[in-house]
Amino acid sequence: MNTRQDLTALDRLREIYHLYDRFMASETSVCKEKCSDCCTCNVTITTLEADLLLTSLSPVEKNALYNRIIPNFPQKRFIPKMTFNTFVRWCMEGRNIPEEENDPAWGTCPLLADDLCTVYDTRPFGCRALMSQHLCRDKGHALIPPRVMTANNLFLQAIEHLDIHGFSANLSDMLTRLPVDEPGPTEDRFVPNEAIPVLMVPPEHRADMAPVIQQLSTLLTPDDHP
Ligand code: SF4
Ligand code: SF4
Repeated sequence: MNTRQDLTALDRLREIYHLYDRFMASETSVCKEKCSDCCTCNVTITTLEADLLLTSLSPVEKNALYNRIIPNFPQKRFIPKMTFNTFVRWCMEGRNIPEEENDPAWGTCPLLADDLCTVYDTRPFGCRALMSQHLCRDKGHALIPPRVMTANNLFLQAIEHLDIHGFSANLSDMLTRLPVDEPGPTEDRFVPNEAIPVLMVPPEHRADMAPVIQQLSTLLTPDDHP
């Protein structure tokens, strides 16, 4: 029987996605198939998530992915200046946080076709975390309950921590760069991932998040509990 120690980083990432699905099963949203206003060219992804996405594709599907992204490469897109764990650490250190440009009007995600995601099963957490309790199209923004916002922050921190030697970048940059050539630290479109400095859980959500934190910790600790 496999033990936790046998799990690869990709297995652990899959388990984190499943854990998120289970957490979200009790939440209601108005999200439905073909509602795709949230599918913009501004989604970010970690190296490990890109790896999972690409390894799940056949050579033909991978070519199709490149044929979607490369000719439609978004010239204006969100390019992160820091990862979420870096943001948390800088806040703790009282440092100034640089402004980051992000505008949904820059365009749709190149992986969207006929209002459907072409890589839905392996889409990154940045996409999974998007939900709303009212139609974004009507209001111009999503309505995400505070409990889900807290969970989203937790899962983002965990996924980055799991990929501690990797990077985060815009989805179009990351997917057209991997696996041919790993991004290096000098590439300003790729920001290095960091360990979790402290979990971003407000006091009112600590009890609610305790089981999720416990389950995430078993997936992030190398010497897991038997
Ligand atoms: S987050 Fe908004 S745009 Fe995306 S599926 Fe839900 S309602 Fe639609
Ligand atoms: S990867 Fe899929 S879910 Fe994510 S933004 Fe692109 S089309 Fe939407």
